[in-house]
Amino acid sequence: METPDSLQEAIIWFREFENCRQFMMYLRWPDGKVLCPRCGSDRVFYIEKERVWKCYGKHDHAKFSLKTGTVFEDSPIALEKWLPAAWLIMNCKNGISSYEVARALGVTQKTAWFMLQRIRLALQDDLTGGMLNGEVEVDETFIGGKVRNMHKDRKRKVQQHSQKGEKAIVLGILERASDTKHKRVRATVIPDRKRNTMQTEIAGTIAKGAKVYSDEWGNMWRMDENYEHGIVDHLATYVDGQIHTQGIENFWSLLKRSLGGTYISVEPFHLFRYVDEQSFRFNNRKMTDAERFVIGMKQIQGKRLTFDELTGKTEGRSSDTRPS
Ligand SMILES: [Zn+2]
Repeated sequence: METPDSLQEAIIWFREFENCRQFMMYLRWPDGKVLCPRCGSDRVFYIEKERVWKCYGKHDHAKFSLKTGTVFEDSPIALEKWLPAAWLIMNCKNGISSYEVARALGVTQKTAWFMLQRIRLALQDDLTGGMLNGEVEVDETFIGGKVRNMHKDRKRKVQQHSQKGEKAIVLGILERASDTKHKRVRATVIPDRKRNTMQTEIAGTIAKGAKVYSDEWGNMWRMDENYEHGIVDHLATYVDGQIHTQGIENFWSLLKRSLGGTYISVEPFHLFRYVDEQSFRFNNRKMTDAERFVIGMKQIQGKRLTFDELTGKTEGRSSDTRPS
């Protein structure tokens, strides 16, 4: 499969619908046999003029396109815009703002923001790599801005997603590199740092028998006997061998750099998507841009995101979304 090697090439390459089509075919039906995403049948017929297939299976919505069943579904935006946008976000080391995407692709900033959010959903870690094991670092960090100057409704909303109305808490769990694997990270926005919250997250992410390292806060949520738990003593004048959390601290500085430099005004409500994006790039850093693009694009299937979900309207949220 031919893929572009650089951003510049990607923008030019995906300007042609035929190149988009071939790439999506390769991604979705690598053996060339098109299957209906709704019923799995191969009794389908391509209508070239409409760029859709028609399924002969007995169900509603007989027609489907290259976008059906992916995060691009129901979007009026063409693949010729979607694919370079995905390339941009997956490969820009410190993240990219909707303003930059809008300029690069010739869409409005609002459209670009929505596109970025959909792609971030695709990049969400669905635990396909399995539980984290071996030597694992656990740490939390606080992210967020001032809520003092916000409108009252908005302030209340933000407070629901953060601690003490000040900051959002992100829990990071990093598996150190071993002989067979690169290091990888899972980061999640959590509502509080209570023992129950921490233990639930850890039990769902770290394999039993792993060695867990944390800072002194780990004393508060003490692990059960499923894990060996080493606690860093920051007051000690030396680092005690393997007992440190420097790996996850490196990830925090990358995350904060991208949030500070690019996503000027991320609301706690949307924060987890930016965290997912940064985790994706971190976990797939040792490869070419083209390889990273294919890996990210493989994750676009089987996921959907509506505008209401995205803006939180389903939670009664008003239209105070401030894109960044
Ligand atoms: Zn069907």
